[in-house]
Amino acid sequence: KVISFLAAVLHKKGTREDIENNMPEFLLRTMKKGSDCNPKKTFLIVAPLSVLYNWKDELDTWGYFKVSVLHGSKKDDDMSRIKQGKCEVALTTYEILRLYLDEFNSIEWSAVIVDEAHRIKNPKAQITQTMKSLRCSVRIGLTGTILQNNMKELWCVMDWAVPGLLGSRVHFKKKFSDPVEHGQRHTATKRELATGRKAMVKLARKMAGWFLRRTKALISDQLPKKEDRMVFCSLTEFQKAVYQAVLETDDVTLVLRAGEPCSCNSGRKRKNCCYKVNAHGETIKSLRFSYLMILQKVANHAALLQTDNASKLQEAHIKRVCNQVFSSFPDFVQLSKDAAFETISDPKYSGKMKVLQQLLNHFRKNKDKVLLFSFSTKLLDVLEQYCMASGLDYRRLDGNTKSEDRIRIVREFNSIQEINICLVSTMAGGLGLNFVGANVVILFDPTWNPANDLQAIDRAYRIGQHRAVKVFRLISLGTVEEMMYLRQVYKQ
Ligand SMILES: [Zn+2]
Repeated sequence: KVISFLAAVLHKKGTREDIENNMPEFLLRTMKKGSDCNPKKTFLIVAPLSVLYNWKDELDTWGYFKVSVLHGSKKDDDMSRIKQGKCEVALTTYEILRLYLDEFNSIEWSAVIVDEAHRIKNPKAQITQTMKSLRCSVRIGLTGTILQNNMKELWCVMDWAVPGLLGSRVHFKKKFSDPVEHGQRHTATKRELATGRKAMVKLARKMAGWFLRRTKALISDQLPKKEDRMVFCSLTEFQKAVYQAVLETDDVTLVLRAGEPCSCNSGRKRKNCCYKVNAHGETIKSLRFSYLMILQKVANHAALLQTDNASKLQEAHIKRVCNQVFSSFPDFVQLSKDAAFETISDPKYSGKMKVLQQLLNHFRKNKDKVLLFSFSTKLLDVLEQYCMASGLDYRRLDGNTKSEDRIRIVREFNSIQEINICLVSTMAGGLGLNFVGANVVILFDPTWNPANDLQAIDRAYRIGQHRAVKVFRLISLGTVEEMMYLRQVYKQ
């Protein structure tokens, strides 16, 4: 949409003339064409670094635009090109914009287009201040998730795009967000429900001229079929034993029994009386969170417990749990010390790995191309070692992949038939990237936030995809993951 918009306002015709118009000035002068009857227009696109080069790629694919990327060492040259009006579309990141705001403001932009505009959701954040002080009268924001937590975020993004449209923050809270949010509580009275609905209709009317909602339904005739499957994987005997051992720790007992009446007969609940903290002084709240994470790790792969990149607090918990739990599994501890690889790639340590092996064998025979997502880089390490050992030609994309490399990896994956798997980190990996070469998406570990998983699936299921897409979500049976999955379904 953005590219077709730019093509229209820049008078692109999709013919040779576009190429000729893009020739260097001195060549144009020798051809008698008085090419520039239109005044020069320059557009600025601000995007996260992870997709910056993707924008460049798509612009080059779909039209003949004079594009400058304001990032990296050639930045100054590009800046002066833009100032001389030799560029039609400038691409930059939020960070560069913040650092060189004055320079950006010395250019007269025809419009600024901000990708992932939900980053402008917090009125106090630096990023919001920067975007608001960028001088440009036409502001276009693109986002797939304008509402992540509450309606204030919507206000903030809209107030950047069309200042004043929704009134002040206080006004918006009183007139719109409070009534709507109150009406959505499950304890809402009929009156609150009605007021909430009315406010919602009013808000929709106010935004109608400024807010375009585009859902997949609009392009459904251009998209192939999508099958979405849950694959419930049984824990292996080893995993079950570790999982059980975690459940039997004193800490988990403390959490599980927090709501029971206290043993001192005070009539209060245990968590508000004699059992507020464990033997190390840690609160039930922090324990609950840590142990959920620990159980989640075990559900995916027991080796994840021996982690080194957890936060400090969790690290302490995990270390203690490991010592406690793994003391009953000396073989595993010894093995993982001796040769990490054999241990962790052995399917007897993870039910999901067992299932995954079978799936991958099947897809390889079928010549399917697989995007394999995981949240944890440690898990990606395990999966990578598995791919190496099985002689698979694979690629990997995570938070450490350089932005210039991302496009290359995507292009290779999409075009080279022998590469049949790409490992991608759910969080840092694929945002905005175009993996239409893949027709299978496997989500190794589901997340609390359904938007993350959908983002992942949309890497492959998008315009340009010609094959039916199969999605597999691996869930460990009878674990916290099943509960998480139910929450996801509820949220969606
Ligand atoms: Zn008590």
